Amino acid sequence: MLYSKLFPKTLKQVPSGAESVNHQLLVRSGFIDQLMAGSYTLLPLGWKVYLKIENIIREELDKIGCQEMLMPLLHPRDIWDKSGRWSDPNVKEIMYQFKDIHEREFGLSFTHEEIVAYILSKFIKSYKDLPVLLYHFSTKFRNELRAKSGILRGREFIMKDLYSAHISEEDMWQWYEIVKKAYVEIFKRVGLDAKVVEAAGGVFTKGHTHEFQVLAESGEDVIYYCQKCDFAQNQEIYDGEKKCPRCGSEIQSASSIEVGNIFPLGTKYSQALGVAYQDENGKSQDVWFASYGIGMTRLIGTLVEVFHDEKGIIWPESVAPFTVHLVGLDLEEESIKTEAEKIYKLLQAEGVAVLFDDRVGPSAGEKFSDTDLIGVPYRVVISKKTQGKLEVKKRNEKNTHFVTLEALVKMVR
Ligand SMILES: [Zn+2]
Repeated sequence: MLYSKLFPKTLKQVPSGAESVNHQLLVRSGFIDQLMAGSYTLLPLGWKVYLKIENIIREELDKIGCQEMLMPLLHPRDIWDKSGRWSDPNVKEIMYQFKDIHEREFGLSFTHEEIVAYILSKFIKSYKDLPVLLYHFSTKFRNELRAKSGILRGREFIMKDLYSAHISEEDMWQWYEIVKKAYVEIFKRVGLDAKVVEAAGGVFTKGHTHEFQVLAESGEDVIYYCQKCDFAQNQEIYDGEKKCPRCGSEIQSASSIEVGNIFPLGTKYSQALGVAYQDENGKSQDVWFASYGIGMTRLIGTLVEVFHDEKGIIWPESVAPFTVHLVGLDLEEESIKTEAEKIYKLLQAEGVAVLFDDRVGPSAGEKFSDTDLIGVPYRVVISKKTQGKLEVKKRNEKNTHFVTLEALVKMVR
């Protein structure tokens, strides 16, 4: 991609009303644009990051046998009446509900348990049809009172939600653990150290649900976790113990951002929406459910909250919009320009994703502050000074060094 053609360019000013770091940096660097509080366009750079994350999740979920599909966002009231959630005061607070011109009532999706149960009620007949794990990436709507944290908290945002259906509680728990492991792997590949945290909200057992929390000063959650083992609990259920109940080590607390959650749902939805199967003896049984969410746009905001410095974003390589930010200096000199263009094409031919700052005019300082702001992992400079070599600097390191094209390709692969 030529920077001269990239839409839009970086902004010098912090957008007014942008309080959070992710909002400020993502808007200034041209990854997102705000339509209104809690509603953002993912601009071309932001969409590239989104797709990288989506692909990682798709790979990990497909690996364990999940199947992707796409469900509607506009839901008729009657399906939500079956579960009783349409009139639930907690749901009414966050769900956009309205009437069309024929006085029919609809809601905009903030989750899809009812819809998945409705689909399964049509197609699941026998124990042989289970388990089944279905997921989609789609927009969610939430009537959010305080949409102030950039893309961490939106009125409209993208989520990955997965629903699993099982013949028994035992099978549900077995898959719950398999998906939990896949989630840990997903967050690791995205570059985040997410803690698996016990949280409240179990709907049919006294057991806990689980959240995936990333430590961040700006986080709205507080978690208590063990320094030695993997014990971690959300503040909401933490009983104040000073020592870890598992290993006896010190417990410490920190602010964190929730990037995912998983819920054992039991048979609540299958009973409400009539999702049943015939067991081996021909007897009708309720299907067991669990659901698993990852906030996609929230994950992008979290990455920026965790990986940035005073100059801009520092993207992990696995989700960066480009791998190399090639900066051409002294491009008014024909020989330098030709060399820079050649390197740009050779890197592309090697399959390296390159953003090439091909502008003639802006100073080295201006170009470097743009590379720091956008946060591509490798900055590669070609100028009068580099004399046929490439000057490489990693975004998260201070030192520059000179390498050949072959060495650079090896480095970024
Ligand atoms: Zn411990």
